[in-house]
Order: sequence, then C-alpha cells, then structure tokens
Amino acid sequence: MKYSFLTLITAGVILFASCQSKSQTENSATKDSSAQSNKTAASSGTPVDVSKIKVADAKTILARKQVPILCYHQVRNWKPTDGKVGKDYIVEIQNFKDQMKMLADSGYHTILPDQLYAYLNTGAALPSKPIMLTFDDTDMDQFTVVRPTLDKLGYKAVYFIMTVSIGRKGKFVDYMTKEQIKQLSDEGNVIGSHTYDHKNFKKYAGKDWEEQLDKPTKKLEEITGKKMTEFAYPFGLWNAEGIPELKKRGFRMAYQLSTKRDEKDPLFTIRRIIASGYWSPKTLSNSIKNSF
Ligand SMILES: [Zn+2]
Repeated sequence: MKYSFLTLITAGVILFASCQSKSQTENSATKDSSAQSNKTAASSGTPVDVSKIKVADAKTILARKQVPILCYHQVRNWKPTDGKVGKDYIVEIQNFKDQMKMLADSGYHTILPDQLYAYLNTGAALPSKPIMLTFDDTDMDQFTVVRPTLDKLGYKAVYFIMTVSIGRKGKFVDYMTKEQIKQLSDEGNVIGSHTYDHKNFKKYAGKDWEEQLDKPTKKLEEITGKKMTEFAYPFGLWNAEGIPELKKRGFRMAYQLSTKRDEKDPLFTIRRIIASGYWSPKTLSNSIKNSF
C-alpha cells in the first residue's frame, strides 16, 4: 500500500495532466436548437425536488440541447517547471478571474447537478444561459482561489474529489482538507466522487470496485453528510461495461470529457470540456459555443 501511495505522489506531480484523454477532440455534440428555452423561471440557487423524477429514455435525453460544462484542474500562476502540456490544466489566477467575469458579463448562470438531472429527464426549466463549473482532483487552490472568485459572482460549482489526496501536502501541489471539502458542501456546492487514486476506470476488476468506488463514496458521505450521486471518470475515460457498476452503487450521473455520449446511457457519459490554461476569456467563450 505504501508503494502505491508513493507512486501516486509521484503521479500527483504530473496530475495536472490527469484528466486528459487522447481522444477528447471529437466534438459530437447533439445539435438541437429547439430544446433550449429562454425560460427564466429557475434561478441559480433554486432547490429542485429530484426524488420524484423518473429517468427518461436515452433518445429523449440525447435530443435535449446540452448544457455547457467546464472542467478545471489547477488555478494558479505558471512556474518555470510547468510543462507545455501541463499548462492546459493550469489556469493562471488572473485569467481564471477574467474567464469567470466573462461568463458573468455574458449572462451565464451556474447550475448544479440536481437542476441538470431535472432538465435532462423532464425538460424542467433552467436559468437563462445555464452552465456548470466542475473542478477535479482536490487541489487546494480550488478552495483558496476558486471559491472566493465564484462567491463574488454568486456562482456554485461541483468539486470532484480524489479521496487519497485529501489533506495531503505534495511537493508541488497541496490538496484540500476534509474540513474545506465540508465547507464547500455546506456552502451549497456539490461534492462528487473522482475515485480513490485516479486509476483508469476502464481497467477496473475485482477489488477495484470497492477501492475506487465504494470506499471513496463512504468517505465523502461521512465528510459531507450528503449522498454521493455524481461521479467523474479519471482521465475522462469510460466504458459501457462499467456503467452498471455505477448505477448499482446509487450514482445518478457520471461525467466524462468531450467524446461522444453513450447511446444507451447518456446520463453516465455527460460531456465536459477542459478550459485550457492557454485560453483567453474570448477563446473560452467561443469554445463553449462550439462544443455544446
Ligand atoms: Zn482527474
């Protein structure tokens, strides 16, 4: 166990590349201009009673216009030691603030998984220009930089936690403590599971299901006092064979990166784009429009 943890710490150094997958450039967004309404009934913080919602058939879900979902990792200034590829996963602090300001100035409203779930299954109204913000891998800057930035704009987000890293101090990156994770949850953000140590979901067998799904779920539910319903695939990599394992464990939706959604299980292959560290607010704005 000790060995695998050390391996992870080493991996943690390059974890900024963690959610990357080679095939994420494919843009197979379902274009459907009819579904997205301009209804403004719900506001960003409106609670949704999702307990009564019946899951819609896949065709119905796939036909609805996708809500843009952004995936972030580290939010900090670049260092000389950061590699060329790594910088895709590190958005500099001022750039992040400018990106969020662009979203607010453009009229985007953040939504949370309950709202997305209600919308995808029932067509429930969303705020105008809905968007979901997600932050992966438990990095400390998500608490120290992201949280106050979003607070100023009244934005909420989803934080996908890799439980092995909770409270760890890495050589290059520190990770959030369980108190900070609880605070994010208490403040109305959503905590989701991102496995124990970022092992590739497509390779799970035997005890992996327990290690990577059951135990992290239990830990995150203990920390937040809330049920875990959202899951993000490490590296965005998923396979159809694994989806029943997620369902069996009570997950309601799972998030990949930007490959085509599964035809049978679109709720378990929800698309996100990585907001690159190289992108200006303008580039981000265009990417949102082109990718969803
Ligand atoms: Zn990740």
